[in-house]
Amino acid sequence: MIPRSCYVALPLPANKAYSYRIPDGLVDRIVCGSRVVVPVRTRQMVGVVTELTHEGGEDLKPVLAVPDDSPLVPAELLKLAEWMSLYYAAPLGRCLKSMLPSALWGESRLLAILVDSSAASGGASADIVKVLQRARNGEVTASSLAKRLKRPVWDALQRLNRAGAIRLETRPVSTGPRPPTNKVLVLATALPSLIEREKTFGRAWKQRAAFETIDSLGGEVSASLLQETHGFSSAVLNGLVERGVATIEHRPTSRDPFTGVSDAPPEAPTPEQLDAVKAIESSALGSTTTLYGVTGSGKTLVYLESMRQAVNSGGGAIILVPEISLTPQTIARVRGVFGGDVAVLHSALSDGERADAWRDLASGRKRVAVGARSAVFAPVHRLCAVVLDEEHDASYKNSESPRYHARDVAIKRTQIESCRLILSSATPSLETWSRRERTTVVCLRQRVSGQALPDVGLVDMRSEARIRESGPVPWSARMDKAVESRLRDGEQVILLLNRRGFAHYLQCTTCGEVSGCPKCSIALTLHLTPERLFCHYCGFHDPVPVGCAVCGGETQRSRGVGTQQLEHWLIERYPQARIRRMDADTTVGKWSHSKILESFGKGEVDILFGTQMIAKGLDFPRVTLVGVIDADTSLHLPDFRSAERTFQLVSQVAGRSGRSVAGGEVLIQTRHPDHFAIEFAAAHDFENFAAREIERRREPPYPPHVWLANVIVSGESEPVVANASVELGRWITELVDRTTDGGLDVVGPSPAPLARIKGRWRWHLVLRSPSRRLLGRVVRYGSRNMPRRILSGITVVYDRDPVSLF
Ligand code: ADP
Ligand code: ZN
Repeated sequence: MIPRSCYVALPLPANKAYSYRIPDGLVDRIVCGSRVVVPVRTRQMVGVVTELTHEGGEDLKPVLAVPDDSPLVPAELLKLAEWMSLYYAAPLGRCLKSMLPSALWGESRLLAILVDSSAASGGASADIVKVLQRARNGEVTASSLAKRLKRPVWDALQRLNRAGAIRLETRPVSTGPRPPTNKVLVLATALPSLIEREKTFGRAWKQRAAFETIDSLGGEVSASLLQETHGFSSAVLNGLVERGVATIEHRPTSRDPFTGVSDAPPEAPTPEQLDAVKAIESSALGSTTTLYGVTGSGKTLVYLESMRQAVNSGGGAIILVPEISLTPQTIARVRGVFGGDVAVLHSALSDGERADAWRDLASGRKRVAVGARSAVFAPVHRLCAVVLDEEHDASYKNSESPRYHARDVAIKRTQIESCRLILSSATPSLETWSRRERTTVVCLRQRVSGQALPDVGLVDMRSEARIRESGPVPWSARMDKAVESRLRDGEQVILLLNRRGFAHYLQCTTCGEVSGCPKCSIALTLHLTPERLFCHYCGFHDPVPVGCAVCGGETQRSRGVGTQQLEHWLIERYPQARIRRMDADTTVGKWSHSKILESFGKGEVDILFGTQMIAKGLDFPRVTLVGVIDADTSLHLPDFRSAERTFQLVSQVAGRSGRSVAGGEVLIQTRHPDHFAIEFAAAHDFENFAAREIERRREPPYPPHVWLANVIVSGESEPVVANASVELGRWITELVDRTTDGGLDVVGPSPAPLARIKGRWRWHLVLRSPSRRLLGRVVRYGSRNMPRRILSGITVVYDRDPVSLF
């Protein structure tokens, strides 16, 4: 039967299907997954065909053109999008939007480009060819052709295209101007010690402050950021150049740090690695492998080798890594094995570059995709394997609709395409661990270096002697001695403090008032560079107040210690040491984070310290001491995953120590040395931790025993949100009682632990069920059929498989 019309997904907000008539001339070119140009009001847009239908269509607007020779979205990806749409209860167009590079669809211009005028058969299209012949580059947009010739040209263009006379191409309406060049101040010298700084700057305080700001921001900062956010005048910045401590460079704003990275030839696998590779290779297609190995056991080499054969014989692969691990070091290792077949999908690609990478993969020119979360959608040809490195990482969860988890999408995708899935981690998520029996578990028990895992010392901060001069910084005598001795021996130190800024908050000593964000229910964090109070949720910032806003009291005390305060202490304590901070504030530049790591790797830094960023996947053999300044920061968050998070963070950062024959040590400062998460992390004992934590989540039940959906209600008025939540709770409970026979619980409604974000009040309800299917049914029905009367003034989000319940 001949299809008469089709459904087209468009990147528009409305949750509806758009249908169009298929003109006779296009019948054999339109299949599911084709890109099509369609009229939307007065514009033309590029969409993707999701379904063909056989009846009706006469009264619909027609598809105008089909720009590609073969469908751009492979059938498997379309199927995946349909699954996402069902599973996450999100419109199909939205799901496709998270898959496709934006330059490939949406509002576009259709360009006709002359290829061979002799192939035109004259007649009605002769005038079109004439216009094209006269045009610059032989290119004219379809809409200006129509205007010039004062008649519709779509059918004629399509005929010319088929005859080979012209080519049709879509271009996004706004490609935007070329990225402007950016004036960047680059430090010419490190002046790592306090003494050198004093000698260089003398009384030039402002220059010194500017120098230190650039240094703390990674050594390279755009002049505009220094002037606008940090308030340094151009005279001060020029002063740095005159003094010879910095240079000014003009650079295009986005640079790809991976061009020119030299490839690292792979090492020869150890016997343990070889066994692991063989085990993966002999597992069934369509099956999952849990690659579980201690930190430093060489998991990367194992998964790369296990894919080598498949890729060499023409197959494709996807390697997902947490965004933060997408470093030149990682890319070099992948390229070392797969060379020019690798396409890197990173967040600094321009829209056009992203579309090119997509085409390279879809056409089979490149066969291996490496990237963060969204690379799970890479249109890799003949997909043989998908790897999730650090599969427990929370960044695999998308935080906007569709709120997909790349692990679950990868599980589905590898089922659809019957290929292997490898979930790699030293601390697997409990979801993965609890279903390990249904996977092939491949275990690496030894570090490749042959070194034992580092000794871990727990420092009980309730009783341990503290260094008095450190003030509020929790700095034990043991930590002090350990750092001191590593510095003396010329070894490297990593320190973790998972809180950025200077202090957690500012409190009035008279009335106890804490400066809070006016838009979020959270205290403002005190920062010293620049000196301001910042909200870590919405970015709000305010000058540091001179007096208390409530009682006018004059003294305000900072409470809790952040990385900036730790930095001050370290500089004071170890004036000779070269110290580098790494947190969200020092890594604002796209690649400043890899830069810091690079200089640490080269041995230009003695102490690298920062937030959880430093815990992930770093591999530096000269690190012999890792210190956790305060292991308790995440232990008491009101969330069911707080123990798991703490365990992962402490284990991961501990794994950075002692990677070479020099051995290594870990010191963990805590006030809860007997908390099981901390005890098991100190003992490098994932399996017992997992057993204990899985048991603990039985009552009240949490994943992996049940499936969750967090239903978040938000709005600007607190009473409206509260009332709506109660009504919604009632409505959902009724729905559940009517349809699920007790197989699903509704917990709440209650105010969310973070009761207000960006000016919006938040309540939530948690849906909980041992049956994934049942939960899915309720989420789908619920999200589509909520009574209108409840919805005015609020937004409701259904977050399936939430990573946290904040
Ligand atoms: P993991 O991810 O398991 O913590 P990595 O895969 O990052 O460990 O490997 C740790 C380090 O060991 C890397 O520097 C890597 O280059 C090195 N390595 C891995 N396999 C071998 C090997 N067979 N021989 C020598 N070095 C290896
Ligand atoms: Zn805020």
